[in-house]
Amino acid sequence: MTSPILIDIKFPQSTALGTIIMGEHIFPFVLSHRKNSRRLSLRVNVSHQRLHVTAPWHTSQKTITKFIASQAEWVLKHMSSAFLNPYYINDGTTLSILDEPHQFVFCEDTRSHFYMKNKEFIISSPHKENFGGIAQQALKNHAYNFFLPMSQKFAHQIGQEALQVKIKDYKSRWGTCSKDKVLTYSWRLLFAPQHVASYVCAHEVAHLQEMNHQKSFWLLVKELDPDYKASRGWLKKNGRSLFSYTFLPS
Ligand SMILES: [Zn+2]
Repeated sequence: MTSPILIDIKFPQSTALGTIIMGEHIFPFVLSHRKNSRRLSLRVNVSHQRLHVTAPWHTSQKTITKFIASQAEWVLKHMSSAFLNPYYINDGTTLSILDEPHQFVFCEDTRSHFYMKNKEFIISSPHKENFGGIAQQALKNHAYNFFLPMSQKFAHQIGQEALQVKIKDYKSRWGTCSKDKVLTYSWRLLFAPQHVASYVCAHEVAHLQEMNHQKSFWLLVKELDPDYKASRGWLKKNGRSLFSYTFLPS
């Protein structure tokens, strides 16, 4: 028998997450009481980097604590492998953006704005605390400038039209295609190799014609991106790492 893992649990309060302390690990968790759930269950949410605990209505904190303690090994194993080391983007950081090194530079200015100069993202603001927010806008803008022409080009190739392109901070997906021909992409694809971002674009554009994942859909993707399988494999294997990029809290 293995020795029990010491556990300390702080339950979530109003909007704050709860925490589970196991040895030197601290895992955030959310708790939901469900009327129609019959038993306690655990789920690791990788993109939000937290544990979800679901409990039947009226389950006491004592019962929940006991349950989590009984699952300690499972929690440790799954949470440790799900947790990412954050990669902080800050003034001076150089990062590969679609295969090209780019640097982030903060400039103090009287107003908040951003622009590109060669391969530099210039982030300006009167307050350095605003760096993260503005840098994220700059990246979203960069993603838009990448995905818009590519979506239009791919759509044209298959006789379709992308009516609008949007960039979002998705938690667990890379892109979407809506019935009204709006294509949405995750700005985090900028941190992936360019062929991966192109594949996601080909994938969403193919949905303009085929709203499914059947054979005809994949044939269309292949027409737009003959090497799509390698990119799809890259995303499956490494996609999670794109969520490790973050900004220092202001
Ligand atoms: Zn799809």
